[in-house]
Amino acid sequence: MSSILEIAICVPLSKTFDYLCTQKVAIGARVEVPFGHRTKVGIVLAKKRKSEFEKLKSVAKILDDEPILDQSIIDFLLWAANYYHHPIGEVIFAALPKNLRLGKPAVIKKTIAIPAVISKPDFETTTEQQNAITKILQYSGKYHGFLLHGVTGSGKTEVYLHIAQAALNQGKQVLVLVPEIGLTPQMISRFQARLKTRIATIHSQRSEAQKLDAYLMAKSGEAGVILGTRSAIFTPLPNLGLIIIDEEHDSSFKQQSGFRYSARDLCFVRAKQGNIPVVLGTATPSLEMLKRVIDKKITRLKLANRASGVLLPKVSLLDMRSETGALSSLLLEKMRLHLEGGKQVMLFINRRGYAPVYFCTECSWKAQCTHCDSGMIYHRHINRLKCHHCGVEQVPQQACPDCGKQALEVFGYGTERLEETLSSHFAGVEIIRIDRDTTRRKKAFEQHLEQINSGKPCIIVGTQMLAKGHDFSNLALVGIMDIDGGLLSNNFRGTEYLAQLLIQVSGRAGRTGKQGEVAIQTRYPQHPIFNYVLSNRYTQFADILLKQRAKAILPPFSQQALLCSNAKNKQLAEEFLQEALGLIKRIQISGVEVWGPVANSIEKKADYYYFNLYLQSTDRKALHQMLATFNEYADTLKLKNKVRWYLDINPIE
Ligand code: ADP
Ligand code: ZN
Ligand code: ZN
Repeated sequence: MSSILEIAICVPLSKTFDYLCTQKVAIGARVEVPFGHRTKVGIVLAKKRKSEFEKLKSVAKILDDEPILDQSIIDFLLWAANYYHHPIGEVIFAALPKNLRLGKPAVIKKTIAIPAVISKPDFETTTEQQNAITKILQYSGKYHGFLLHGVTGSGKTEVYLHIAQAALNQGKQVLVLVPEIGLTPQMISRFQARLKTRIATIHSQRSEAQKLDAYLMAKSGEAGVILGTRSAIFTPLPNLGLIIIDEEHDSSFKQQSGFRYSARDLCFVRAKQGNIPVVLGTATPSLEMLKRVIDKKITRLKLANRASGVLLPKVSLLDMRSETGALSSLLLEKMRLHLEGGKQVMLFINRRGYAPVYFCTECSWKAQCTHCDSGMIYHRHINRLKCHHCGVEQVPQQACPDCGKQALEVFGYGTERLEETLSSHFAGVEIIRIDRDTTRRKKAFEQHLEQINSGKPCIIVGTQMLAKGHDFSNLALVGIMDIDGGLLSNNFRGTEYLAQLLIQVSGRAGRTGKQGEVAIQTRYPQHPIFNYVLSNRYTQFADILLKQRAKAILPPFSQQALLCSNAKNKQLAEEFLQEALGLIKRIQISGVEVWGPVANSIEKKADYYYFNLYLQSTDRKALHQMLATFNEYADTLKLKNKVRWYLDINPIE
């Protein structure tokens, strides 16, 4: 007798598909099914008695004897598909490691080892740490959200290790989410050194085979700790007892293409579903989490002091209005002093490459990407101009394409040029540059970190890859350059992000031994943000920002959704949103405001023109009802196949 199966397939349609099957198959198993002229991998979601369709096709092949998704993870994925208004098939497939998406066998190639020896810390937990640990443990086996708000160097990781150990002792699994790459090597080694369990790691530096092994060992319950970047939130974990999100404020928890979800927001849903605690750690909480604290939805646990007892760094401003070079003379002087004292120094500049501008000194010509609304960045080691938006490269012109004069020069600084300038100022001092160009090779980042951790005096130059969580014990001085762009940002979250960045980068200085020092170069020393950053008063600054947001009814005091359309034909991209706006206006749901369509701040990217339509409401239900109704009728939009379009729920850009 054949049964009817409801199957999810990775196609951009908000529906599932019915197939016949004569064999026994588990819910959550993968199957191969005929789809159009091809076969596709699908996941069995349910068995049905009846189908509304006639003439069903049959499953071609069953790929798994055992389900690869259990019912609780299927429920979680269904919830996410519904909340993000995204096709269920695409949601499920985004949650699977690539090898499973491709239909490869679900077998473990190499078992993850349990560490042979583990070490004990050579210190006792501080009273603040102990207090946080005790509070969190009171909630084991119950849903509760905690914001672990600990200043940089307050020993949040130590708290994670204690609560993870307690969960492991009860036979539970622990899911730890960390931001993209940066933090992972150090975090992994800290967990491996302390916890006697298999630690499955899931992040971009792992091979597909390793990711599959990690996934399967998590799913079987063999791995006690799963440490991964945002997509790890979808790992099936039969004994999940605790979720930890480190550096909660980090924007890499938001997926910005395809299925656009926030792992940070989803962790609450998963914790509620599993009836377990969730702990979000950071020195610079997002306004979203602070609002949850105010609303008493989560509990704030404070670590106000550094674990080592060292004071937070002394922050000063260097007024660049009277300076001509990239580095102020005072900063150079401070660097020299610290290096002579055997210390390490870090310079933060959030731009890779040699120089951001290649221009003509005679006329005003500037090298622009022909595919994007963006300037070309000069990279010296390859002697190429590169677009950081679409990746296109070209050999720099010798003469100006406009006036023909041989008067082309670079302007401004990126990490590469800064490294060069520094080597002329500090002959013989080792300079370690950390950006996407120097860490592309596998393990390169880890090697750089090892070099820094050797403690030898050196200058570290890097982008925001350095801002996250690193604990460099001999780093005494941090110099922050070129942040003025952030002061003038037109994103309403701009100042929030900048304050977080400044505090995080500053927090790398002077973590052990003596109090560290931070120097911020700016041409806007009177900007109010500095009052707070100089005295490490992030919370007070965040309070002010929250009041401004409340007044303007911006998130987190309202909910937003973005409808983005893009096409090679600019007019079509805009017209589609006009058509969408017409549909939205016809939907009778009150309390949803609409703005737009407006061109994106970077209108053209890789030859596509981007336009945005924003929807906003203080009533989450109304907004989601509106979006669901919109999706239902989106088929009636005439231009729907002429442009690329997507919905982004709680957008951050
Ligand atoms: P955070 O993540 O809060 O910035 P870390 O967890 O990296 O801080 O801890 C900072 C440093 O303090 C680490 O070197 C860690 O080993 C150390 N540390 C943590 N807890 C204690 C403690 N109770 N006593 C002394 N040192 C500690
Ligand atoms: Zn010219
Ligand atoms: Zn480009």
